[in-house]
Amino acid sequence: MRYANHFSTLVTPQNERADSRQVQNSAGGFTFELTPQKRLERFLILGCEGGTYYASERKLTKENAGGVTASLNQDGAAAVEAIAALSESGRAPKNDPSIFALAIACGHSDPAVRRAAEAAVPRVCRTGTHLFQFVSAVENFRGWGRGLKKAVGGWYSSKTADDLAYQVAKYQQREGWSHRDVLRKAHIDGLLADPGHRAVYRYVVSGADGMGEREVKRKTGATSHFSGQELPEYLEAFEKLKRATAAGEAVSLIGAYNFTHEMVPSALLKSPEVWEALLPRMPMTAMIRSLARMTAIGLVKPLSSARGTIVERLGDAERLKKARVHPIQVLSALLTYRQGHGEKGSLSWSPVQQIVDALDGAFYSAFDAIEPTGKRTLLAIDVSGSMQSGVISGVPGLTPQVGAAAMAMVTARVEKNYHVMAFGHQPRDLPISPRMRLDEVCRVLAGWDGGRTDCALPMIYAGQNKLSVDVFQVYTDNETWAGHIHPHQALRVYRNGTGIASKLAVVGMTSTGFTIADPRDPGQLDFVGFDAAAPSVMADFARGDLTPA
Ligand code: CA
Repeated sequence: MRYANHFSTLVTPQNERADSRQVQNSAGGFTFELTPQKRLERFLILGCEGGTYYASERKLTKENAGGVTASLNQDGAAAVEAIAALSESGRAPKNDPSIFALAIACGHSDPAVRRAAEAAVPRVCRTGTHLFQFVSAVENFRGWGRGLKKAVGGWYSSKTADDLAYQVAKYQQREGWSHRDVLRKAHIDGLLADPGHRAVYRYVVSGADGMGEREVKRKTGATSHFSGQELPEYLEAFEKLKRATAAGEAVSLIGAYNFTHEMVPSALLKSPEVWEALLPRMPMTAMIRSLARMTAIGLVKPLSSARGTIVERLGDAERLKKARVHPIQVLSALLTYRQGHGEKGSLSWSPVQQIVDALDGAFYSAFDAIEPTGKRTLLAIDVSGSMQSGVISGVPGLTPQVGAAAMAMVTARVEKNYHVMAFGHQPRDLPISPRMRLDEVCRVLAGWDGGRTDCALPMIYAGQNKLSVDVFQVYTDNETWAGHIHPHQALRVYRNGTGIASKLAVVGMTSTGFTIADPRDPGQLDFVGFDAAAPSVMADFARGDLTPA
């Protein structure tokens, strides 16, 4: 018997601590912990909608709120900048986590952090909907003090009068808030200084009928005189649109004023002519979200010109980037559109094949462009039971497991030397390839239960099969527990056995604070699943000249 075998720091079962820096994950195994900054980044990109196998949405939200606070406590200015920059970058599928994090920052105990957060409101809240989400969230963390009133008032006064009129018409109310409610809370001196802004303000507060000169009786009995503001032409036209009953009238107003579908009365949204008028200047995300509808009403059909316009736009990578279209939005549209019917409701349509294919291509071009590295890359997807719980970004059917497969295809599509495998408590072949359309890739992975979790398997598998691997890309929730050796130890064994300075890229698919990557080793790095920048940054990491510890 070799006693040392039972006492080695090189091989430790995953249910025991291999390193004093490790913490217990939700599955009972020991893993490393993310830094507060990395934890914040995971939350901002993945959010915690739907929870995980181990934690309800509510519990996970609480944990993540704690994580946001931890990063604010450590370096408030840097954390606020990270929130604002990530929100602006378009790397995250949804802006909701950024808005939530900013609301937490606005309620932080340090006044300097609060001020930085208040100043970032217009950067994070770019649309009326974002602003409504923000005011609804921020009330949970603080009252309406001077700083918040000024910040929200600043959102309005920082826009041109024309932009403001557009925002007011497009996003009238969300989350139980209207512009009227918000403006009543906000500090609006800056807004009232300019006649153009004043007119929009008056429209919001008093409606179209409240424009012009009028007398208002005060509680004191005195009368105040309000000098007249003419209804801006754009809002006057919008009022006409709101009352329109004939498609032809809506079509000519849309043509003259670039109105969006949110502004059109819902009865008229059944008309193909109305959508045809909207399409030429429709924002990309609205177009992608409206594909089913435009198909259902007969505007998009085989060989139609609307179909041609849409296919062309989806093929325009620059346009996708400029409009901040996120790959998840495209994948979500693809998975729904392909089905020919919605998740709920009665809408059904015949999917147009060319649109499905165009969405498939757009998914890849919505990521930051990747230069192939030529590195030998093992793409390893965790298919253990826990990877089937929860959904990414609220997209039905998009479990961490299915998402991981779609994400792995992004690298597989550009690299020459790659192999895809899956693992639970044993390694498995995975019959997917980037030549398959994404909905087929997703179908292969749906409901595939690989059992218990051992994240060391990719390295063990490569060692046993004498595969030469420069980069292990492991897609996982980091809830590893069932192996006899920790993943970072298995990587060391592999490196020593092969002489290859292999790197480990860990792609976290859920917003927890755990990671299998040893933070002290520059050859092991964390990435976030469905970060639009992740595949290109992973390629940089793969290319980088690092000496592993
Ligand atoms: Ca698992």
